[in-house]
Amino acid sequence: MIAADGTIRHDWTIDQIVAVHDLPFLELVGRANAVHRQHHDPNKVQKASLLSIKTGGCPENCAYCPQSAHHREVDLTRDRLMEPAKVIAMAAIAKAAGAERFCMGAAWRQVRDGHEFDAVIEMVEGVRSLGMEACVTLGMLKAHQAERLAAAGLTAYNHNLDTSPEFYGRIITTRTYEDRLDTLATVRAFGIDLCCGGIIGMGETIRDRASMLHVLAGMDPHPESVPVNALVPVEGTPLAKRPRIDPLDLVRMVATARLVMPASTVRLSAGRSALNREAQILCLVAGANSVFYGDTLLTTPNAGIGEDAELFAAIGEPERTCTPASAA
Ligand code: SF4
Repeated sequence: MIAADGTIRHDWTIDQIVAVHDLPFLELVGRANAVHRQHHDPNKVQKASLLSIKTGGCPENCAYCPQSAHHREVDLTRDRLMEPAKVIAMAAIAKAAGAERFCMGAAWRQVRDGHEFDAVIEMVEGVRSLGMEACVTLGMLKAHQAERLAAAGLTAYNHNLDTSPEFYGRIITTRTYEDRLDTLATVRAFGIDLCCGGIIGMGETIRDRASMLHVLAGMDPHPESVPVNALVPVEGTPLAKRPRIDPLDLVRMVATARLVMPASTVRLSAGRSALNREAQILCLVAGANSVFYGDTLLTTPNAGIGEDAELFAAIGEPERTCTPASAA
């Protein structure tokens, strides 16, 4: 019997996580739902909106990512850093559409001090002044930069592990797993929540998936937010020809994340557009309690707002009243 009873633990072994993942499907989903209900309101699904504030031209070589400058075959328009006023206006629109969290991504290897970082600070302050949670993903970060982000009111910093330590070198070679862990520790040291998860469907094994969860679940406290992504193969990237994963594999990953990190917010992220309404609802039953909302997820298609309205109507989540941004 595997002890996955909703207790917060940091001593999971990879073998135990594999055993949880490989439970009979209905048993797994049933257990995950029970733990989900212990720690969360089962009727609450947080909507997060994600905006690419600086697109393309990234010096990293993440094999899945159309924004990498290494993947020259990708058809992507590079953009400079957006103006803070425009970003804040888009956050207000997202809020009016029901988003509670606004995530901003810049395709940088690392943060550099200067006017661009100053602009990001202004964006964070603007989003927070709307009464929304603010999350950014900017690459590697130094302590004084994390301190400035914390002072600006940043809710969370996204920095995904992507996959297991063992498989990492097959996906990215321009940085190391240790680099990732160092940045996560820096962010944590300034009291900013961690948003940290990964991607399935890149050719990794089930043990790799469990190994990534093992790293996350070994953190104390667990990351407050764990995005679970399914690869969206993009033409021109090295993973363009990877087959799409079976949606039930994503359900298994969500359920396993829920069982090993019972109190974290598990976010159904990239790859959602390939799931039908019923598969998405199964992910919510299995413990996902947030979705990214909006038509694009950085640079890959996401479920449209119209389809999302149908999803939320189907699960009966009460409609939120749209609040003008200025009234927040
Ligand atoms: S995933 Fe992030 S770090 Fe990697 S290439 Fe894309 S933008 Fe750069």
